[in-house]
Amino acid sequence: MADAAEAAPAPGDGSGRSARVVLLGPPGSGKGTQAEVLSRALGVAAISTGDMLREAVAAGTDLGRLVEGIMKSGALVDDETMARVVRERLGRTGPGAGFLLDGYPRTLPQAETLQEILGAAGSRLDAVLSVEVPEDELVRRAVARHRADDREEVVRERLRVYREKTAPLIGYYERLGLLRPIDGYRPVGEVTAQMMAALAGLASLAPLDRAAGVTA
Ligand code: AMP
Repeated sequence: MADAAEAAPAPGDGSGRSARVVLLGPPGSGKGTQAEVLSRALGVAAISTGDMLREAVAAGTDLGRLVEGIMKSGALVDDETMARVVRERLGRTGPGAGFLLDGYPRTLPQAETLQEILGAAGSRLDAVLSVEVPEDELVRRAVARHRADDREEVVRERLRVYREKTAPLIGYYERLGLLRPIDGYRPVGEVTAQMMAALAGLASLAPLDRAAGVTA
């Protein structure tokens, strides 16, 4: 993994490559970690809506006050609020630029909003990496992590919400021909290698084959 980071181009290195990628997966699937690694390897911004909301809570903004209790309970913030957050964030870098979205979309209306934001900018998604991990393993990882919002009942609630609201996105993106299933029940480096291999075939990332070889 360290090798991949060293060999990779720096973000915004002017190579002109870009990837517009969604990382889909249940809480604890490791997609946040992978987003960071891929961000360095591909030279595109990792955008985590969870991190953005946690920053808003820490800063005590209006948004932070609105979402704090919701986040603690394991529920989802409403689609309209999330649309505002993501529209603003993608507007800042320009939605045509590359990005790795971690934690958005999480509902079908959010997925449609994303299509709309990108479409209005003459852009579109390149791929959706769907990280698959057995549920028992997710609970085990979460309990081992001991984060404030990781009490087992909250973990189970987050998984329930994932199954009910987010899992339908797998079929949605499959129908759009964007879905790339990734086996997340593997060591971190192997998961990264699978992701790089899944993205290496993208026309917009054609020169990336070498970088993928470094990671594998
Ligand atoms: P995460 O770090 O991605 O697991 O997000 C932490 C929490 O932030 C989630 O449990 C939700 O309460 C909230 N959140 C983050 N992203 C979204 C989203 N796209 N839609 C609704 N709620 C979100």
